[in-house]
Amino acid sequence: MTAVSSLNYTVLNLLTVFVGCIWGYKMAESKWATVTETNGITVAEMLVKRLEAAEIPAQAVQESAGKAFGFMSGPLGTAYVRVPEQYLEEARQFLDVEEPANTDDIVTCPECDSEIELDETEWEQGWFTCPVCETHVSLDDLF
Ligand SMILES: [Zn+2]
Repeated sequence: MTAVSSLNYTVLNLLTVFVGCIWGYKMAESKWATVTETNGITVAEMLVKRLEAAEIPAQAVQESAGKAFGFMSGPLGTAYVRVPEQYLEEARQFLDVEEPANTDDIVTCPECDSEIELDETEWEQGWFTCPVCETHVSLDDLF
């Protein structure tokens, strides 16, 4: 009885190690997908740090064309935030939710209490039409 249990235990252990190896191998082999484009590698690296803090593996990549044409490289070239394909959806959601710029653009409709994300045009013109209740809302009334 004891011998059988300990044998099972050993098999289980070996299986765990084996599965762990395959998983590690798959992680190394996985394709990297672009989550977002940023203006400069510094911003991309910031986003990568936030993703990594959320346990999503990520890397910041500078546009390769920038390296070919020296004048485009440096801190202002286009950079990309990339994650393994299987994390793409998670990473996109995470960055959208956490993006401070996005939350700044959200206002609450005084008529129906919907949270609406305004774009630049709407901020400039000073009003928007609520997509939920179709009320014309002046931004002066909100602030
Ligand atoms: Zn509304």
